Amino acid sequence: MTPENLLPFSQALRQVLDHTALLPRVEEVPLAEALGRFLAEDVKARENIPVADNSAMDGYALRAEDGGEPLRVREVLGAEQVAAAPLEPGEAVKIMTGAPIPPGADAVVMVEHTTVEQGRVRVLKPVKAGANIRRAGEDIRQGETVFLPGERLTPARVGMLASLGIPRVKVRGRPRVGVLPTGNELVGAGEPLKPGRVRDSNSHTLAGLILQAGAEPVVFPVVSDTPEDLKQRMSAALASTDLLLTSGGVSMGDFDFVEPMARELGLTIHFHKLNIKPGKPVVFATGGGRTLFGLPGNPVSVMVGFLQFVRPALWKMAGSPQLGPRVMTLPLAQAFQKNDGKRHFLRGVVSLGPQGLSVRLTGEQGSGMLHSMGRANALVVVEEDRNQVAPGEMVRVELLDGEAWGEP
Ligand code: AMP
Ligand code: MG
Repeated sequence: MTPENLLPFSQALRQVLDHTALLPRVEEVPLAEALGRFLAEDVKARENIPVADNSAMDGYALRAEDGGEPLRVREVLGAEQVAAAPLEPGEAVKIMTGAPIPPGADAVVMVEHTTVEQGRVRVLKPVKAGANIRRAGEDIRQGETVFLPGERLTPARVGMLASLGIPRVKVRGRPRVGVLPTGNELVGAGEPLKPGRVRDSNSHTLAGLILQAGAEPVVFPVVSDTPEDLKQRMSAALASTDLLLTSGGVSMGDFDFVEPMARELGLTIHFHKLNIKPGKPVVFATGGGRTLFGLPGNPVSVMVGFLQFVRPALWKMAGSPQLGPRVMTLPLAQAFQKNDGKRHFLRGVVSLGPQGLSVRLTGEQGSGMLHSMGRANALVVVEEDRNQVAPGEMVRVELLDGEAWGEP
């Protein structure tokens, strides 16, 4: 523990993962609904891809050893056509990309390397046996394991499933993630702003982050900072979701009741204050099959809390082998200083310049500054024991692209 009794980041993350289990629900979905889902089964190839030896070029199938002489062109094969008979010595078959190689032929010469005179083709550039032939099973072998459980379905993977003749797949059920914004001051995006009012942005940010993580957001109406209201609404939301996120109401203010109400609902509080900035107050509580993350109200803190703690939990529930963001180390374009011993998460922009990739900060780093988050494409992490970063020194960068990559 640190001087203020703040739990170190790594211990908090460990606690979250220790209290998170694989979600047992599995569904079978058609490919059109499979994008972004996590596989609940391994996928084996039931057939070779390609299914037969075929031409990689538009050209002539022939015996490589016949290459010198003009060859009689016996037939023309479109991509879907199979040769009528095996190739005899001195013959060639005109063949389109993808068409099966006729038995007897052992190479394809591309059309650009031939001339045709009186129905005979002459090869201008000899080829070796095997040239321009795609072999049966060279892409995917029958029986091969193509995907493992937990892998997330990208557009390319959905396409591969189609190639493999798999029209439906078993995927993990999406965790239903409740979002309960707290705060007497909150109004909707379409409502006028008056002194003392703040528009509720966290519901929308969180719903987007939940979708991006592959889960299903369930956004509840704003709840007031009244203990009884909050308790009753939290209780109902916990009962109807797999995991509940609240925003706001976890600081030291006179109207911050999330943690005491979680206790009253019988949840065990695993942590409440973390050695990080922004996002120091984060409540993590579980009990009776319920899970609550009480995230802070500040728009940047809520994102940091989600990305650092909630998303790894959601990915663990989905069986993903990767629980962390895409990480790189890059030179920081400017100086940075701190001396509070906390782990800092700064908003950064990764860009490519003449010297290669680097990251710069997005200016004002206050935890309420949604603007700086809107411009950022990455979080820059400055570790607990690191007090200064000189321009050009390497820093840990976590991309905000929503891709699961490595360790949490
Ligand atoms: P709290 O943690 O409840 O004290 O809130 C901290 C700050 O975040 C206050 O300035 C709140 O007005 C603001 N805030 C709380 N909830 C939201 C929300 N849903 N959307 C935008 N700002 C919020
Ligand atoms: Mg509040």
